[in-house]
Amino acid sequence: MTVKQTILADWAVSPSIVAFSTTREGGVSEPPFASFNLATHVGDDSLRVVSNRALLKKALPQHLEWQWLEQVHGNDVAVVNKAGPALTADAMRTTRANLVCCVQTADCLPVFVAALDGTEVAVIHAGWKGLASGVIENTISRMSTSASNLAVWLGPAIGFCHFEVGEEVRNCFLCATGSPSLVLAMEGCFVSSKNRGKFMADLYAIARLKLTALGIDKISGGDYCTYCDDGKFFSYRRDGVTGRMLSAIYIEA
Ligand SMILES: [Zn+2]
Repeated sequence: MTVKQTILADWAVSPSIVAFSTTREGGVSEPPFASFNLATHVGDDSLRVVSNRALLKKALPQHLEWQWLEQVHGNDVAVVNKAGPALTADAMRTTRANLVCCVQTADCLPVFVAALDGTEVAVIHAGWKGLASGVIENTISRMSTSASNLAVWLGPAIGFCHFEVGEEVRNCFLCATGSPSLVLAMEGCFVSSKNRGKFMADLYAIARLKLTALGIDKISGGDYCTYCDDGKFFSYRRDGVTGRMLSAIYIEA
């Protein structure tokens, strides 16, 4: 990668796996999309988005195929073997080399999944709605690698410091959680905020809890808050109208 602002996944998987999240730096878009906005649906000048995507593609091997998603905060997983028109889903999984799986975010959590041996990859757009409706569980269930041979890296998302939610969001998670011990652990992902009836929610902790419950123990990342760092990240919660970062993963042949 030569887009130097890119954040590379920090995990111990096969060197054939390439996984990264872009930042807002290094592109040509003007405020409020400055500057490396990679999304076409947010109101940015489409020619600038095309230029930004071209910059990204130029920094990577030219023979890669790209698959894009129409994300709907749902829990569907696209299983892809060949690039085609954008698919409506919030997660993507492939075993095919040189096929880039990617999701776009600005606060939601990008969850990267890879088989340790480099045979299979997935990436998940996990906002609270997707997390609550099982997008992580659905994705892992579509993978052929056993949980003990998978690793996960959590890319940049809004942190516990800034993600305030209402009681209805917390209840969604508590109701959807099975065993009493898991419910207790899930309760720990929400802490009463200074505002009455509101909670600070920890998306990273929720994701870790769900992944651990699925038998995955190699989990890294979760070190950023997109809201806190306005120089590096777009944040929907902070800015409303803003760009999107791209989180991408592929198997290098
Ligand atoms: Zn923060």
